[in-house]
Amino acid sequence: MADPLTQIGARAPAAPEIDPTLDLFDAIERLKRERNAIILAHYYQEPDIQDVADFVGDSLQLSRQAAETDCDVIVFAGVHFMAETAKILNPDKTVVLPDLLAGCSLADACPPDRFQRFIDDHPGHRVVSYINCSAAVKALSDVICTSSNAADIVRLFPADQPLIFAPDKNLGAYVKRETGRDDLVLWPGTCQVHEIFSEKKLVQLKIRHPDAAVIAHPECEPHILRHADHIGSTASLLRYVTDTDRQTFIVLTESGILHQMRKAAPDKELIAAPPEGNCACNECPHMRRNTLEKLYLALRDLKPEIHVPEHVRVAALKPLERMLAKDLDAA
Ligand code: 13P
Ligand code: SF4
Repeated sequence: MADPLTQIGARAPAAPEIDPTLDLFDAIERLKRERNAIILAHYYQEPDIQDVADFVGDSLQLSRQAAETDCDVIVFAGVHFMAETAKILNPDKTVVLPDLLAGCSLADACPPDRFQRFIDDHPGHRVVSYINCSAAVKALSDVICTSSNAADIVRLFPADQPLIFAPDKNLGAYVKRETGRDDLVLWPGTCQVHEIFSEKKLVQLKIRHPDAAVIAHPECEPHILRHADHIGSTASLLRYVTDTDRQTFIVLTESGILHQMRKAAPDKELIAAPPEGNCACNECPHMRRNTLEKLYLALRDLKPEIHVPEHVRVAALKPLERMLAKDLDAA
């Protein structure tokens, strides 16, 4: 089966010049109307992109929006597997990703040929795959999940059904703890952003801010998650900040989410948890490849366009539809 990552190509083309006097916000609004386009943005996008988007959300919300839209063009401000998911759900629409090289360490960690051998080595197992994987890996899966519904999706299977969970071993370990399914077989992938948080610095922050709630994404490592007052998807973390009475939050996820948190709860104090070293590695380098300029060009030129080979798309659609229907018999 062809690896869709090869479609990304090895080098990004040089960005064409844009008239520096152009008001990109106005130009994007105009093009959006002309093209009958919708802009879907993940919470990890830079603030300007979130502000120009029609919908900002987590992976599950974005999949649902992609499944429901009646626009002709979807501009997916996120990473490759997200735009690919939108294309799987909308074969007749044009789906563009502002930067085709916006990948994901989890998707990259699970090549479909190696995953097929892993499945062959575990006869009798059904396969639950996190949406952060290529279309070709989705096509090898029984059902897809996101960080919002992973435990619920695993609970759809009878307790005696052996399961593979891929490709995030940290989310998989969290699902094991939530469901009591100690027998889940985990593929050993990780998110390069969520595995970088420093426990030592987190503990120091907690001492300095004893009233702060620690909120964390389940892609974080188990020794980080054990400090968390709340664990959830990006949408769930946002809801926790707005809906609880707590005033201060230490946030363990990609820092792009702070933009929506600040907008929704301007009076609350938000502290981005520090990674190891002095890097800005709590910004996802793949998500941050997209810029407002590239988004404008994607709308103007309707490229880079996402394509998924039809046999892969059809096979990947079934496990996605099962997730959206939360029904293993569906599709
Ligand atoms: P959610 O959107 O499910 O919170 O996942 C975060 C993520 O890492 C997306 O790449
Ligand atoms: Fe992938 Fe992690 Fe970036 Fe999300 S934050 S796109 S899981 S590398």
